[in-house]
Order: sequence, then C-alpha cells, then structure tokens
Amino acid sequence: MLVLLLLLAFTVFVLNPVIMKAFLCMLRSIISIFSPPISSQDELEKLLKSERVKLGLLDKKIKALLVAPRSLFEADVEKINADFYLIRCARGSTRTSVSHELYHIYDAAAEEYWATRRFIWEIKYLYWWEPRAIFYEFRRLRACNLVLKQAS
Ligand SMILES: [Zn+2]
Repeated sequence: MLVLLLLLAFTVFVLNPVIMKAFLCMLRSIISIFSPPISSQDELEKLLKSERVKLGLLDKKIKALLVAPRSLFEADVEKINADFYLIRCARGSTRTSVSHELYHIYDAAAEEYWATRRFIWEIKYLYWWEPRAIFYEFRRLRACNLVLKQAS
C-alpha cells in the first residue's frame, strides 16, 4: 500500500512536468501540421512586422533572425537589454512560432518573466507562460498563413 502511495506521489509531483512538456510538444506538433515552415529571412521579417502590431509591441525593439536548424521547433526569444529583444527562429520552424515568441515578449511585460528564480520560472513556464503562448499561436494560425499569401 505504501509503495502504491509513493508511486502515486511520484507520478503526481515528479512525472507531471514531463507529461506536461510532452503534451505541450504534442500541441505544437499539431499546429506545425497547419503552419508551413519559414524559409527566408525576408519571410520572417514580414511575419514579425505584421504580428507585432497585433500584440501592440510597437514601442519595443525586436529583431528576428533566421538561424541554422538545431531541432524541430527551435525558436526562442532573448531579452538583450531593457527594450531590445532578439527572436531566433531555426530555418524550417513554423510561421506561427513568430507569434509564439512575440507572445512571450508580451507576457514579459510583467518583468518577472525574466527576473524570476530558475525553479519557479520553470514551473511558471510549463504551466502558465508556455500554454498561453501556444494558445495564442493557435489563434494566429490562419492570420499567419494569410500574411504570406498576401505578401507573395
Ligand atoms: Zn514558448
């Protein structure tokens, strides 16, 4: 009985972040089926230009760079200084990943996004910031595909 209880506790408190990570990864995989890959720096900049307006991020300096692919959904955002953010998208990452990373910047308006201690950050990232960014990414799916249809 005790072993079962310990096993249950282990599953609930230790395995859940793993399950959550896998679940979030699966959601992004589903989105990626409907969102074509970014193929050029030019395309990335067009997406950035239209997507940042949606989130009202016009007062921030944001640069997006297309980099060599490292893994499947590789895209990240880094705060370089007070008002300058760098989004890196691996060649082949989805168009919606731009909206996704911009949403992290939008969330980061609450400065704790960057300032929080590592452990708390991981938990908040996994259970709050990342699901929100994925949900937003999902909502922008159609618009992201349309932007480039109009542009090309
Ligand atoms: Zn994210």
